[in-house]
Order: sequence, then C-alpha cells, then structure tokens
Amino acid sequence: MDHAGRLHRLEKALSASELDVLLVTHLPNIRYLTGFTGSSAALLAGERGAVLFTDGRYLMQAKQEARNVRVVICSKAPLIAAAEWLLAQQQRGGRRYLGIEPESLTAGGRKRLGSVLGGKATVRFAPPLIERARMVKDAAEIGRIREAVSLGASLFSVARREIRPGVREAEVAAAMEYEARRRGAEGMSFPTILASGPRSAIVHGRASMERIRRGGFVVCDFGVILAGYCSDRTCTVHVGQPSRDRRAFYEAVREAQQAAIECAKPGVPTGEVDEAARSVLRKWKLAKYFTHSTGHGLGLEIHEGPRLAAGQAEKLEPGMVVTIEPGAYIPGKQGVRIEDVVVITASGCEPLTATEKDLVVL
Ligand code: ZN
Ligand code: ZN
Repeated sequence: MDHAGRLHRLEKALSASELDVLLVTHLPNIRYLTGFTGSSAALLAGERGAVLFTDGRYLMQAKQEARNVRVVICSKAPLIAAAEWLLAQQQRGGRRYLGIEPESLTAGGRKRLGSVLGGKATVRFAPPLIERARMVKDAAEIGRIREAVSLGASLFSVARREIRPGVREAEVAAAMEYEARRRGAEGMSFPTILASGPRSAIVHGRASMERIRRGGFVVCDFGVILAGYCSDRTCTVHVGQPSRDRRAFYEAVREAQQAAIECAKPGVPTGEVDEAARSVLRKWKLAKYFTHSTGHGLGLEIHEGPRLAAGQAEKLEPGMVVTIEPGAYIPGKQGVRIEDVVVITASGCEPLTATEKDLVVL
C-alpha cells in the first residue's frame, strides 16, 4: 500500500485548506495513511512530516506497520500526547491552525484537547480530506476488495446448504461466520443479517433465534473483513415454491438493481443511480416500500463515501467501489433485497461478483 504517497497528498491538501497540522483520530484514516492497525492511536500530519502516537501495547506492531511515520509510544492517552507534542513544537514557532476530525473526536476528547492547548493553537473542524481521498481506491485496494468480495460470495453456498424449514436463523449465520473465519477472514464486516418470513421486511433483521418456515423469503446480507477490507452482499432466497406475486415482487427488485448497475458510470451523480433503481420500483408500484438508499462506498469500512441516495450530486469516478442494493419491504409480510459490490471503471462499472440473480428456491 502506498502509505507515503497518501500522506504526501494529504499534506498538500492541508496547506490548501489553510491548516498547519491535522490531528487524525479516526482509526481507519490512520490505517489508510500509515498501515497501523492498532486500536489506540492519534496521528499528527503536517508539512513537517507525520507522528503517530500510540501506547506501549503496540510498540512492536507500530514499528512494523507504520514505516512511513515517526512513532511515539506514550503513557498518556494518544490524543493528549499529540496535543502536548504540538505545544512543544509551537514553542519553536509555526503550527498554529490545528484541524480536528469532528466526526471522530468525542465531546470529552475535544474538551481535554482544549485544556491541554490552553488557547495556544486555533482548533478548526477539518474538511473530510482523508475520507475524500479514500473514496477512490488504488489498484492495491481494489485487489484486496476483490479478494474480500470473493470470499464473502462463497458464503452464500453455506447459506444455501443450511437454510431449510425448522433451522434457526442464528444457526445459518453461525455456519456462514464459521466458514468465513476458517477461510481467513478477520471477522464479519457487520452482524450477519438473516431475516426469514415476515422478518424479511425488517431491513436490518439480524439473525435471530427464530426458526425458518416454509413459504417465505429469507434475506441474507453478509460481509467479511479480509486483510482490512470489507465485503458486502445480499441474496434473497425463497423457502418452498413462491406464489406468482412473490416471484413478481422479486423480479421488480432484480430489475431495479440491474437498472442501477447499468446507470453507474463515471461522471454520473450518485443520486441518478439511486433514481434508476427507484424509478423501476415506481413502475411496479413498489417505490414506497423501498425505504433506504441504493448503495454506499466500502473499503476499510463497511460504510464510507460516496452515498448512492436520492438527490446526491457527488459524481462517480473510476476507482470508486460501491454497493448497489435496492430492496422492497412490505411491513409484517415480506422483503427482498439484492446487493452487489461494483467498481467504477473508465466506461461503466464492473460487478465484483458474478451473481446468479434468478430467484433461488430452497
Ligand atoms: Zn449488505
Ligand atoms: Zn451494503
């Protein structure tokens, strides 16, 4: 991973946004810039180079992973150590405007930071410079995501094998998660969703102790983390032969997803991709049951920019990796969602999973 290049580009962006130094506290951002994967860290990045603060537990790991920055092992909280370091620098002149990441710094952290700095540096909310950079993936990242997606996709065969009347949703999820770990996943990218029968209408219906019954959809939404990168996929199956109405309901969502995939190309606002899916569901009179957005970026985090939602003006660019996942949910009755991860290419998009989209009947 090109950590040095990323840090270098950030330092340039910082001077353009009139910040002398950025205090990075969001751990995935620290990982993106340095490769450090520990759970306690703060990073000061500025034109004079970057310094990573972490505690003694990570002495070896920080030196191995974060090779492009100076590592300081501190006995205090990394945030406080970083603030004190900044003050010491200040006394030697320079570094006056400090950017913080408002989305990750807690109110308590902000207060402690203020009391250490004592008004000697002007603290500003930094624009989401790192998040913006992270939206467009480089070749190494796309390679990692491809591997995560392919491992994730293979778990669907476990779901197909395990889903049958009488089995609990949690048992199916457990079998999938066990297989994921055996194949090298560090963990799941979110709690596995396995929602059967009327529960399929719950958009985020985590696997419960409910038993799967004949005659209903099962929405399976699952993802793994492999070498730091996330996968995300949703397949909806039907247990027992579906009625004609149920088949049509599934086909509507499938058509919506296909329309959104065909719409996703460079230069297209993400809101347009959302509209492509929504307009198909409108035609089927199901738009009011599509209660979430069409997709999201993914990478080091399961949800990152860009958002594929109604009215979003952000334009797709080659290298963005996003999910396309329309759904329809009739409360108390049934739900269907179909989700793939696609990478935006020079001329369109490439789905990373060769998904079988015909309704699977078990
Ligand atoms: Zn998902
Ligand atoms: Zn998703």
